[in-house]
Amino acid sequence: MKTILLKNRPKGRPSVSDFEFVENDSPLEIKDGELLLETAYVSVDPYLRGKMNDTKSYTPPFELDKPVHSMIVAKVIASKHKKYNNGDYLAGMLDWKTQQISDGEGLTKVDSEKAPLSSYLGILGLTGLTAYLGLTEIGKPKKGETLVVSGAAGAVGSVVGQIGKILGLRVIGIAGSDEKVELLKSKFGFDEGINYNTTEDMKAAIAKAAPNGVDIYFDNVGGPISDAVLFNINQFARFVVCGAISVYNNTELPKSVSVQPFLVRNSALMQGFIIFNYQAKYPEALKQLSAWLAEGKLTHSETVVEGFDNIPQAFIDLFDGKNKGKMVVKI
Ligand code: NDP
Repeated sequence: MKTILLKNRPKGRPSVSDFEFVENDSPLEIKDGELLLETAYVSVDPYLRGKMNDTKSYTPPFELDKPVHSMIVAKVIASKHKKYNNGDYLAGMLDWKTQQISDGEGLTKVDSEKAPLSSYLGILGLTGLTAYLGLTEIGKPKKGETLVVSGAAGAVGSVVGQIGKILGLRVIGIAGSDEKVELLKSKFGFDEGINYNTTEDMKAAIAKAAPNGVDIYFDNVGGPISDAVLFNINQFARFVVCGAISVYNNTELPKSVSVQPFLVRNSALMQGFIIFNYQAKYPEALKQLSAWLAEGKLTHSETVVEGFDNIPQAFIDLFDGKNKGKMVVKI
């Protein structure tokens, strides 16, 4: 049995040496009410970076020398639990371990017949929920409006853009390579794409791609990309502030334009979004996402890295944009 611990709190960009691998050969014995789980798929997510700092946030930080945890799909390989049987697959917040004991608390049974197991970490998991609920609850889209999405070829962004198209919006995606920009249009149906790494004047590029101005901005990255969007907003625009990956590794406070004049001038709304505040809406959102998937209106996209030992590197690779769609590790 292998476990990955957080060894150091990363300073700036994380590195593999911030994690420690521990091996233990003693067999795991379950008691009544418990399950023995074998990890099948591990979700690596940008928000885990924040939990590696010793700062207060919406969830507590990881503890040093303790296992890192994230959303995982695991197989039940022994059960003394009333609800779950051998061979069931369960999804939930679990430790980065090849095998572990659980009392089943917080886990949900997933069905590999209905959808691929990894999709419960992506489009049918927190990724899909974040995209759908962030866009509909804060973005409040109206047909014909213009939506700009940053981190557009990533897990959340690629789903936001597709939902935007389903809801009748003009959708512009911002991503980090020409290959990703092409993918936005060819695979996810975006109307326009902008490569922020090769575009000198993002403000002008957004103005060109959104000739009627920006009504909704789904922000996954923060920093200068989001500043450039501010210059192009319409009256009553809505900013869904979902994430800020461009500043997660910063060791100093970033320099940003002052948002207030833009918000006042345009009577615009800027609101932070945390998926865990919308749990009551998960069933309704999952029903809609599943229906769109079944109708072929949504495409599930992922980058699959193989091997337990590659979990930390897969996480770090998110900061280099190595993923298209949801980054998952198959064990
Ligand atoms: P992604 O799949 O989008 O992966 C991260 C992507 O971010 C990379 O592929 C990369 O794409 C891009 N990126 C990396 N560094 C930078 C940078 N410096 N500037 C601009 N883009 C960068 O991750 P998720 O979809 O899982 O998450 C997207 C965002 O949503 C994150 O900020 C995350 O924290 C947030 N989130 C928030 C939730 C909430 O409840 N608030 C829930 C889930 C996610 P590229 O090649 O285009 O640079």
